[in-house]
Amino acid sequence: MSQSLDEIKSALQRAIERAEQTKERGKVAAYIPELAKADPQKAGIAVTLANGETISAGDCNQQTTIQSVSKVFTLALALGTVGDRLWSRVGREPSGSAFDSILQLEHENGVPRNPFVNAGAIVVTDSILTSYQPKEALAQIVSFVRALAEDETIHIDKAVAMSETQTGHRNRALAHYLASHGNLRDEVDLTLGVYFHQCALSMSCVQLSRAGRFLAFGGGLGPQNGQMVSAKRAKRIAAIMLTCGHYDGSGDFAYRVGVPAKSGVSGMILAVVPHIASIAVWSPGLNKHGNSLIGTQMLEQVVNELDWSIF
Ligand code: GLU
Repeated sequence: MSQSLDEIKSALQRAIERAEQTKERGKVAAYIPELAKADPQKAGIAVTLANGETISAGDCNQQTTIQSVSKVFTLALALGTVGDRLWSRVGREPSGSAFDSILQLEHENGVPRNPFVNAGAIVVTDSILTSYQPKEALAQIVSFVRALAEDETIHIDKAVAMSETQTGHRNRALAHYLASHGNLRDEVDLTLGVYFHQCALSMSCVQLSRAGRFLAFGGGLGPQNGQMVSAKRAKRIAAIMLTCGHYDGSGDFAYRVGVPAKSGVSGMILAVVPHIASIAVWSPGLNKHGNSLIGTQMLEQVVNELDWSIF
């Protein structure tokens, strides 16, 4: 890495300043009522480097639920639990369709395109449930994320989990459709219960950038810290983030930003600069693909200024 900490800090501050001046903020997700309460003016960013140092700016310590960013952590756990057998139940190709689309699932006989669209993530969570009871599976997910971030305070926002449990009709439809194709092993409500709770993991940008280190640093938390998953697994998850991490906006994100990343409808994005940094951004307004509008703008600016694109 050729930049000093001061140069990185200034780049983050410039991104926040521009974010504050940007009028167009996108639309806050309203289909989960608790998420609709978010303030689109908020914007935060945090970068964690290989030496464990975290640099941040804006609303970087405010917690929000990570939503679909959790799919990265459950994929890592599922691959550790069932290994490559997972790939007989879910594909690894970009979907080109919306995060909660059912269309493709019908054409492709109940095998979701990839682990990051909702149907695929529900299958991934279900695969963890083949080895654990629902409460145990949830405890595994929470303690995995806590260990990755080295932060025991990380918890689930029960109000958001409840809000999605009450209103998650599309996910329920997807889960029943998967079950009708024999691609759900556990009961729909049990699998969805775990899925809704993993999406409601509450984290700040600082915490998320720390939890994402294993993807940037070959499966470990940095040179001095322990290995969390194999280097091969971390590399493969990052590859899927690059091709599928932003739903039907994945191509545009790769073109503009050029690093592997996973977004969530709360406006969080976790991005990975291999061997250099793990970055988390947050701003609740979303673009038409359900990805943070200002978050993408901040990542585009910082990655380009610091010349961190992988291309
Ligand atoms: N909990 C959300 C859902 O399933 C996650 C979607 C997302 O963050 O993209 O609808």
